[in-house]
Amino acid sequence: MTGLSPNPIRMKRMLTELEERGIRDIRVLDVMGKIPRELFVPKALAREAYDNAALPIGENQTISQPLVVAKMSEALQLKPTHKVLEIGTGCGYQAAILCKLARRVYTIERFESLSANAEKRLATLGINNYVAMVGDGSKGWPQQAPFDAIIATAAPEEVPAALLEQLAPNGTLIIPIGEQNKRQELVRYTKNNAGEMSKNLLGYVDFVPLVSD
Ligand code: SAH
Repeated sequence: MTGLSPNPIRMKRMLTELEERGIRDIRVLDVMGKIPRELFVPKALAREAYDNAALPIGENQTISQPLVVAKMSEALQLKPTHKVLEIGTGCGYQAAILCKLARRVYTIERFESLSANAEKRLATLGINNYVAMVGDGSKGWPQQAPFDAIIATAAPEEVPAALLEQLAPNGTLIIPIGEQNKRQELVRYTKNNAGEMSKNLLGYVDFVPLVSD
């Protein structure tokens, strides 16, 4: 396995499953079809990389299942001009997708080791329209705000106020909310032109906790 060209059979199966399960955004499907997911999981799990399953990535963390990645990427409604903030870089898979859909991605991870490995993988894929930081993403990235879109891939028990503040007018925040091992809500917050927030429920998910300082 080179890690650079996706396994065609398993990839096709993953894309078919995403479509069957309701993913409609052609740009999201196209981008996910080009990113070799096996590059982002431990070598021993390469054969499972395209299964619709969460997999371990070290430090007791997981890469989300493809359907959840696709759903969240679709819900962000990214445009090629957008500036995006991601909380929880993890292995960098979601970041790679965001980089292909938006202009620039700012991504924050608590674990230095995960951040460093994610940067190596993004470099392997020639992706460089991002900035990675090690730190507590629940505070957002005030120096770079506002963001057209914010995605959290770890779950706090309540939405961090900083993330709502750092959304641009017409911006979207997608975030799982709730305790670990309980049913978490996947929520979309949108800010209108006047700065007013609205909220809607996208479904139920199971993320690792967002750990704040
Ligand atoms: N988007 C990732 C998902 C990784 S799992 C991927 O594609 O692989 C969520 C990640 O959030 C974990 O790596 C975890 O360490 C990180 N995390 C948890 N709390 C955090 C915080 N407060 N700030 C930044 N990262 C955090």
